[in-house]
Amino acid sequence: YGEGRVNSRGVDLSDPQALAALGKEMDRAAAQSWEATPIVGGQARRDGKAASQQVMDPADNTRVVGEVTWSDQDTIEQALARAERAQWDWDNTPAARRADILRRAADDMESRMGELMAMCTREAGKSIPDGVAEVREAVDFLRYYAVQAERNFSEPQVMPGPTGERNELYLRGRGTFVCISPWNFPLAIFTGQVSAALAAGNCVIAKPAEQTPLIAAAAVRILHRAGVPQDALHLLPGDGPGVGAPLIADPRIAGVAFTGSVETAKLINRKLAERDGPILPFIAETGGQNAMIVDSSALPEQVAADVLYSAFASAGQRCSALRVLFVQDDVADKMINMLAGAMDELKVGDPALLSTDVGPVIDSEARDMLEGHAKAMANQARTIRRLELGPECANGTFVAPGAFEIDSINRLQREVFGPILHVVRYQGGHLDKVIDAINATGYGLTHGIHTRIDHVVEHISRRIKVGNCYVNRNTIGSVVGVQPFGGEGLSGTGPKAGGPHYMLRFATERTLTIDT
Ligand code: NAD
Repeated sequence: YGEGRVNSRGVDLSDPQALAALGKEMDRAAAQSWEATPIVGGQARRDGKAASQQVMDPADNTRVVGEVTWSDQDTIEQALARAERAQWDWDNTPAARRADILRRAADDMESRMGELMAMCTREAGKSIPDGVAEVREAVDFLRYYAVQAERNFSEPQVMPGPTGERNELYLRGRGTFVCISPWNFPLAIFTGQVSAALAAGNCVIAKPAEQTPLIAAAAVRILHRAGVPQDALHLLPGDGPGVGAPLIADPRIAGVAFTGSVETAKLINRKLAERDGPILPFIAETGGQNAMIVDSSALPEQVAADVLYSAFASAGQRCSALRVLFVQDDVADKMINMLAGAMDELKVGDPALLSTDVGPVIDSEARDMLEGHAKAMANQARTIRRLELGPECANGTFVAPGAFEIDSINRLQREVFGPILHVVRYQGGHLDKVIDAINATGYGLTHGIHTRIDHVVEHISRRIKVGNCYVNRNTIGSVVGVQPFGGEGLSGTGPKAGGPHYMLRFATERTLTIDT
């Protein structure tokens, strides 16, 4: 990519030998019991008053995957105090050294592909291809932010000025950054936030999602082994109110990077605004009401394949996943029939099997919410298809993929985070009404266009207010350094993850003027 860096090679899943080796590694890893604890000052903390809990496999709720010890008030206090003390040294570590540490972590992560994939599968219900993509993305973030750190943080930018005066612009770390991440990319997003904050010279306190602490602990161990100083990075497993809220309220923090639901982002934003003291940067990446517009010139087979993947891969649990498909009325029946036929081929089941397309949703709360929505849709809308779950799904939190035809995107009050697709027909002359209705949701994350008419691409892509627009392809799986990712409006504050401006938001700018 012209920056001394290539993206992770991943695993060729069509190569039987590579697949067999990966399977062995995953089995070996899955035979072990995993553990997450608070990691403060590099030490695993099991000594507090905090409770421990078993972590269960979402695909089989009878299977214990590991154990987590939650963070208590004492551990939170220690992490904050140690991070504050470590800030000067870490911020004054040369950017090239910080970058080398991140590259070492990337190499280690890449060499542990099977182990980390097994964790993605067993703790988060990720399919095999999703697991490969997850580890690759985490590795790519590490290498990408290493390059960005070297490029932006090594030397000051010399500004033009009058003779006899030197002006230099420096980027420095801000202080302790709190990184709060979701369960749906438990390794990639966790690693992306943490590595950008570290690379910019900040100490980090990371609070992973309560559903996926095990893989977060593995990532922190890798970063410490690679050379991140023990007091520059702390892990505090726990839930939002118990751990996230006190961190956000603490006067010692210097910024918050958050990825999760829009509701939680708004709550954190309010809490930050109510604090005394400095105004903190808040980087929020949230959900979407993502749509795709398919006009009558589109290729039906390609549309069916792309819609299937965009809506149902990862059991629809991607922020970028397709939620509302708009189809031009004169091709709607044909497209919808083709889509229903394609849905029949989806295999729902154990995510550890390569034949599985759709794994479980993350927990029973998510399943109940999705089942409630599907039931409401079955009453209020036309059911295009609702698959049935087989006996292999009996012990897990599975949701059968469904597609429903609705008359307007306004029927959806919030993001439906799972394998449920909504379809709306639109009349050929009413394209602008469709675009305006999508924009009116207030979200702006991903959007898809399927058409073979250039000026339609041009028109929609100019008018639609989203962060990532995809034409004649699926709408998920952005690649670090290739498709910088993130939304606008209700979908996030920017800057884009995996893009050249992301790290700058973690830094403060200082100008030094010297009269020579
Ligand atoms: P969530 O908002 O429930 O939780 C996200 C994180 O916030 C968790 O770590 C949680 O413990 C923490 N949290 C909850 N309450 C808190 C509080 N009061 N104070 C501090 N922290 C608190 O979201 P989720 O269910 O984990 O993740 C799914 C959501 O994330 C979806 O809406 C999805 O669209 C979004 N998402 C967005 C992106 C993106 O890049 N835009 C990527 C992945 C996921």
